Amino acid sequence: MKILVVEDNEKLANAVLKKLENNGYAVDLFYDGEEGLYAIETSFYDLLILDLGLPGIDGIEIIKKLRSHHKIIPILIISARDELDQRILGLDCGADDYLCKPFELNEVIARVQALLRRTKYQVNSKITYNDLIYDTQNRTLMKSGEHVELSKRELAIFENLLLNIDTVLSKENIVEHISTFTESIHPSSVETYVSRIRKKLANSINLKTARGLGYILSSK
Ligand code: CA
Repeated sequence: MKILVVEDNEKLANAVLKKLENNGYAVDLFYDGEEGLYAIETSFYDLLILDLGLPGIDGIEIIKKLRSHHKIIPILIISARDELDQRILGLDCGADDYLCKPFELNEVIARVQALLRRTKYQVNSKITYNDLIYDTQNRTLMKSGEHVELSKRELAIFENLLLNIDTVLSKENIVEHISTFTESIHPSSVETYVSRIRKKLANSINLKTARGLGYILSSK
C-alpha cells in the first residue's frame, strides 16, 4: 500500500510519514500543494492524507481537481480544529474522512486502515488463499495458523499480487506500488523479491512468471 502525504507543517508531516512507514506503508511526502497534486497525477497511490491550508494550491482545490478528473482515491483530510467550514467543504467536494489537529499518530493509522478497508476491500478484511490467510488490516500473513515472516517489500509485493489475483502484473506496476520518491526500486530487483516470496511460501502459492510480461498469482 502506498500513501501520499501533503502537509506543510514539516514536523507533523515527518511524524506522520515515520508512523506510516513503521506500519509498513510506502510513503511519499510533499510540503507544497502544487508538488503534491503533480505527484498524485503522475504516480499511483492507494490513499491521500491531505492538509487543507497549503502553499501552492490549497487542499480544497486539490480535492476538487482530483474529483473533477474522476480520480478515485480515498482522501483523509487533516486540518486544524477551527477550520470546520473548510472541513465540511472538503467532504462535500469528495474527501472521505477527516482528522482534527492535534491528533494521536495511532489515530492516523486507525483512520487509514478504516478508509482502505471501506474503499478497497469492502467488508472482508481477510483474504484466504489456499492455506494462507492475509489480514489486510493488520497486514499480517498466516499459514496454517502460524505467522509467516515476510520483509516489508516482500509483503507489499505479495499483497499487490493477491489483490490482483489471476491478473498479470508487470514489473513496472510492481515497482510503482513499492517505490517512493526517496526510495526507488529497480525493476530488476523485483525478481529477487519474487524468488524470496516463492521460497518462503513454497507450496502455498502458485506464482507464475509470464515471460516478458511480469508475474501472476494464480487462484488455481
Ligand atoms: Ca497547513
